[in-house]
Amino acid sequence: QFPCGRRLPCDIYWHGVSFHDNDIFSGQVNKFPGMTEMVRKITLSRAVRTMQYLFPLEYNFYPRSWILPDESSFFEKEIRMMKDRDPSWKPTFIVKPDGGCQGDGIYLIKDPSDIRLTGGLQSRPAVVQEYICKPLLVDKLKFDIRLYVLLKSLEPLEIYIAKDGLSRFCTEPYQEPTLKNLHQVFMHLTNYSLNIHSGNFIHSDNANTGSKRTFSSILCRLSSKGVDVKKVWSDIISLVIKTIIALTPELKVYYQSDIPAGKPGPTCFQILGFDILLMKNLKPMLLEVNANPSMRIEHEKELSPGVFENVPSPVDEEVKVAVIRDTLRLVDPQKQKKKDVHAVCFLQLKKKKKKNFPNYSIESYKCHVIKYGLFLCCRSQTLEHVSGAKEELLDAGPPARLAHDVSTTTEAALPSPCLKQVFPKYAKQFNYLRLVDRVAALFIRFLGVKGTTKLGPTGFRTFIRNCKLSNSNFSMASVDILYIDITRRWNSMGIDHKESGMCWQAFVEAFFFLAQKKYKSLPLPEQVASLIDFCEYHLAVLDEKRLVCGRG
Ligand code: ADP
Repeated sequence: QFPCGRRLPCDIYWHGVSFHDNDIFSGQVNKFPGMTEMVRKITLSRAVRTMQYLFPLEYNFYPRSWILPDESSFFEKEIRMMKDRDPSWKPTFIVKPDGGCQGDGIYLIKDPSDIRLTGGLQSRPAVVQEYICKPLLVDKLKFDIRLYVLLKSLEPLEIYIAKDGLSRFCTEPYQEPTLKNLHQVFMHLTNYSLNIHSGNFIHSDNANTGSKRTFSSILCRLSSKGVDVKKVWSDIISLVIKTIIALTPELKVYYQSDIPAGKPGPTCFQILGFDILLMKNLKPMLLEVNANPSMRIEHEKELSPGVFENVPSPVDEEVKVAVIRDTLRLVDPQKQKKKDVHAVCFLQLKKKKKKNFPNYSIESYKCHVIKYGLFLCCRSQTLEHVSGAKEELLDAGPPARLAHDVSTTTEAALPSPCLKQVFPKYAKQFNYLRLVDRVAALFIRFLGVKGTTKLGPTGFRTFIRNCKLSNSNFSMASVDILYIDITRRWNSMGIDHKESGMCWQAFVEAFFFLAQKKYKSLPLPEQVASLIDFCEYHLAVLDEKRLVCGRG
């Protein structure tokens, strides 16, 4: 921690909340620029909706959602039409304020007219979503799953999933929503922060009981009842990969604006919290993604009225410590340096053992190596500031052969990894979904001035011209009208008014419009893919020409 400011660069920066430090030029940061914005309820819903538009069957793991207030009348109209078509349909909806967390401001409704306008939707936009009425119950209680996912790199895409997660339970037996029970949060909302206030909340000291349990304990139970838990896991992995594929295009737009390509900057990684609900038929549904999941491994215990104490929470500890440990293992920037430091520690400890600690056991030696290894590897320069460390290092001599032995011992001393790579491991299965990433590459190319996330009218014109998209049927005047129409509409509903110009989502809309216009007879995904191919081809030709001119 650097309360008075940091003077030296680091290998790993661990930010508490979000990416906010503009003077980091190297190393790795544990947050991506723009991730907090990306996983807000509205932005996430929009990103998933783009993918649902292209691949409806692959993205049916996210409840149908509408954005308020922009789509209020559309929401009302659509529900009215669906009810007219099927009068027996009695849906329930859940309204969730944008940017809210811990169940804050969430409520259930039976009819679009029940949306509460008090408090001003304008000032606090929200997402209204179809409520999943038939969740899987355990002990008659609704529960959700918190799964930790490491996005290790955006380019190339690398995703890891923790083998175990948390299951967070409601504290009142579940009943399908009726007008009478809609308000019972302990029955319908699984948030720990809400249920902790219920008299029925049970703090658990093992992983299989209580209001917070490990997900593996639930899977064990399901397995003993004959459920195919491998299938549940593979559906969850697929949900996670598809969700990240939906987030990456806009994340790349944010990334280039904070860390422009070709300029010195850090690389990023991030631990995300995925909230997933299993339906009665065991299909996983995505509820939300958390950019800053709680890593607390303690909970508050009320000793006497008003007197609280933090006590360890074994369930949290079992899941979360492994996630942090493996993240550090995976992003370890200088494995070789670490090996060297381990060897140095080993030599030092051997000396100490001889002189001061004749009974120094191999176990305590391993602990020291792990402690020193992680600590010292955080920044080799900091060694100079650890009193005496430099001298000790110098007189330790070259560590060559021991390095290997010691690092093997250290790896062996750590528990087996809990983070499992799922991408690129399963890339072949999912790469066809990464169409919008290529649209993002086009958008970024024409953004022009680094540091922006919005495309100006000249940038849009250049995009059309360089990709040879205007012709006698689509004049440059029509291009300008398209730009103005779409940009004005998106900016009137956008939350971000800091910059003027065409935002990413507006560009996607314009691109899909152009694709539909150019390839009328094809289905949408093929229209979009064909237009991407067409643009990429013309840009490659242009680059080639420029290269030849440059050489000349
Ligand atoms: P928050 O960020 O405030 O926790 P969530 O989207 O996670 O908001 O919703 C809070 C809780 O509401 C979830 O943990 C879940 O129990 C319940 N919930 C949210 N969306 C749905 C839904 N579409 N269907 C059923 N339950 C839901």
